[in-house]
Amino acid sequence: MNRRDFGKLFALSLTGAATGVIGAPSVLKASSKRVLVIGGGFGGATAARYVKKFDPSIDVTLVEPKTTFHTCPFSNWVIGGIKDMKEIGHSFKPMSDVHNVNVIHDVVTEIDPMKNVAKTKGGQTLAYDRAIVSPGVDFKWDAVEGYDMEASKVMPHAYHAGPQTELLRDQLHSMKKGGVVILHAPPNPFRCPPGPYERASLIAHYLKKNNPTGKVIILDEKEKFSKQALFQQGWAKLYGDLIEWRSGSSGGSVTRVDTKSMSLETEFGMEKGDVINFIPPQHAGKVARDSGLTNDSGWCPINQQTFESTIHANIHVIGDACIAGKMPKSGFAASSQAKIAALAVTDLMNGRSTQPPSLANTCYSLIGEKYAISVAAVYKLSPKGIVGIKGAGGLTPMDASEQQLSAEALYAVGWYDSLSKDIWG
Ligand SMILES: Cc1cc2nc3c(=O)[nH]c(=O)nc-3n(C[C@H](O)[C@H](O)[C@H](O)COP(=O)(O)OP(=O)(O)OC[C@H]3O[C@@H](n4cnc5c(N)ncnc54)[C@H](O)[C@@H]3O)c2cc1C
Repeated sequence: MNRRDFGKLFALSLTGAATGVIGAPSVLKASSKRVLVIGGGFGGATAARYVKKFDPSIDVTLVEPKTTFHTCPFSNWVIGGIKDMKEIGHSFKPMSDVHNVNVIHDVVTEIDPMKNVAKTKGGQTLAYDRAIVSPGVDFKWDAVEGYDMEASKVMPHAYHAGPQTELLRDQLHSMKKGGVVILHAPPNPFRCPPGPYERASLIAHYLKKNNPTGKVIILDEKEKFSKQALFQQGWAKLYGDLIEWRSGSSGGSVTRVDTKSMSLETEFGMEKGDVINFIPPQHAGKVARDSGLTNDSGWCPINQQTFESTIHANIHVIGDACIAGKMPKSGFAASSQAKIAALAVTDLMNGRSTQPPSLANTCYSLIGEKYAISVAAVYKLSPKGIVGIKGAGGLTPMDASEQQLSAEALYAVGWYDSLSKDIWG
């Protein structure tokens, strides 16, 4: 049976139910099919909603500790004083009340892939036929000497949106006149490759308005970064020399953190800051690592057609935690992968074969309030894994006009509104 036939059969079954026809297909019977989704962020919330959309007869349970999910996208806008925390918070009420997903606010502590069950901190044991895991990233505490969870209370990473975002914003907004903000950018791979540079831009935006003798220094572990030429052009136009970027080989690589003296040790000496935003190296979220879903890289290998783990059957891993070929770790990518995983899960649970995926990503970065840049790509599955399709997508041109750059800032807002409605609305 192909997808169109199934759709017809499903429509027929609904008619049958409405008119009481005897012998309507069993698709409407009380479900014994269970999908468990772990994590209610960009990947998990999309997956929960779309499994239910593709096959309403499946019982979908979503486990997520937060009752309000604050997005990392636009959290840099909060730090820069352009948006409020309330504007980036999303409730799970529509998920349960409108979309019929069972939402449990708890933490999964362990997945047992042999028994197909997950245990939660609150003492529940949740059985599944298939699980979709999207726990995002965790930080490699102590990968850099001196930077642990305690240190993040002094030098916030602000790379999980929430209290850390507010802490960094408050430190920036109360920094002494002429102070120095140091931003440490991590090595690849990490969540949102343009994220640190958008942040540096919006910190500079705040300083230019409120503390014009202040300065931003980016200490980078890398030699180059995403959309570099466009960022550097924007920085020169809007902020002069307010932002200084140092690559790993020019003193950007940090070997030790000292919270007492508010300084970072590099191969070129100690660097002191008034505010330090330290973004540490990253790996897949704890539940993925504790459940044996990661390989030596610290990320989860998957079948790139279905997103099913190549280590444990019946568990699909999506979003930042998985290794999705050439796709970046972004919210849009996580949501795009979630739809493919949801389709694969419903296909497999209904005995259908899965299809090669088509995936997409668009990433906007705000450099000033009316100045944004973007990158977009479309992806397909090749024998080498997921790759970008040549000629599809593109980058803001270097010679974009002021109108184009300011239109990009409006598109960014439209992108955020439509994606977040599609996920949590
Ligand atoms: C500053 C910044 C700016 C960004 N800007 C953009 C942007 O403009 N565009 C874009 O596309 N992307 C952006 N991103 C990237 C984006 O935030 C991530 O790629 C995206 O959140 C990944 O989705 P995910 O589902 O993998 O993880 P998340 O969205 O982080 O969701 C993971 C969820 O899992 C939950 N969880 C974790 N462990 C458990 C457990 N054991 N049990 C139950 N629940 C659990 C967590 O509470 C969390 O809610 C940005 C990131 C940052 C840091």
